[in-house]
Amino acid sequence: MGNVKAIALFSGGLDSILAARVVADQGIEVIAVKFVTPFFGTEVVEDEARYIEEVKAKYGLDLLVENISQGYLELLHNPSYGFGKNFNPCVDCKIFMVRRARELMQELGASFIITGEVLGQRAMSQRRDTLNVIERDSATKTELLRPLSAKLMNPTQAELDGLVDREKLYNFSGRGRSRQLALAKELGITDFPAPAGGCILADPILSKRIRKIYAGDFVVKPGEISERDVSLMLLGRQFVLPDGHWFVLGRDEGENNRLEALASDEDVCLYMEQRPGPFGLLRRGKDIPLKTNEAFYQTLCGLIVRYGKKVKDGPRGSQVTICEQDTKSFLFSDPLDDEISRPWLF
Ligand code: SF4
Repeated sequence: MGNVKAIALFSGGLDSILAARVVADQGIEVIAVKFVTPFFGTEVVEDEARYIEEVKAKYGLDLLVENISQGYLELLHNPSYGFGKNFNPCVDCKIFMVRRARELMQELGASFIITGEVLGQRAMSQRRDTLNVIERDSATKTELLRPLSAKLMNPTQAELDGLVDREKLYNFSGRGRSRQLALAKELGITDFPAPAGGCILADPILSKRIRKIYAGDFVVKPGEISERDVSLMLLGRQFVLPDGHWFVLGRDEGENNRLEALASDEDVCLYMEQRPGPFGLLRRGKDIPLKTNEAFYQTLCGLIVRYGKKVKDGPRGSQVTICEQDTKSFLFSDPLDDEISRPWLF
């Protein structure tokens, strides 16, 4: 087949694995692309090299990881095709990804794009008319190949040109998974993630937090949203204090470390040195100096102590370290009463 290349959208789910493999097994060089944002693909960012190796070892696919956060955060302001059940703009999301895949196709000299879409599998985003909209709006009408449902669709240019053997493609449709599972078995693919999950925008609880930012009901305003804000918002125990300030506490060591890594010069960090407990991050705390806001910090220290480890037969209170940029200060506090802080939980 010579030097024929294709770009495959790779979510990591079974359909995307199968679609890429079906084409790769025809001797075409498939470059699988994993798009990441703070809403999906975050597990990849933690150890990109390991993930790339894993995909190669398990599925025999070469993977490229692409962070598309910037444009994606914009898209959420006003998606043309609206949202699904939660804050998931699935149709616009697909168009956005296919458009980016088209650019990659041109940059990398590939001839077509592969997706794992299956006709009729999802109520909104995989209906025939929606699949047509995705092709039209991403300008990929002849370049977008869905190998799992290809035989139910018009041939793409790659099939017409004989780059891909249409006879070796499939006619899957609907919600059932049995044909995909049988194909996986046939291709020797045994280790793949369970269906569903993975996208925070489709999560009924977490997506509410994101919706709140975009609705302008939060200390971070819609025009200012950054990738870091979204990551912060999805981490730990969240508080919005009565004056609107945003304070996040880690719930375990892993979250403490992630919060610490997300802290910037604009933020103020609080923690206890004498006993285990949460790492606290006050977003944009540099605008609230300790020197002139001691009572406010006393409250935050009370929250740190409240969620810290209790000392058996020891004092209830503890010293808390407050880091404002390079300056360390200390306050002593008793645990804050839950009755006071409960309404601030976000
Ligand atoms: S579930 Fe999330 S990642 Fe998947 S199409 Fe919808 S918005 Fe995009």
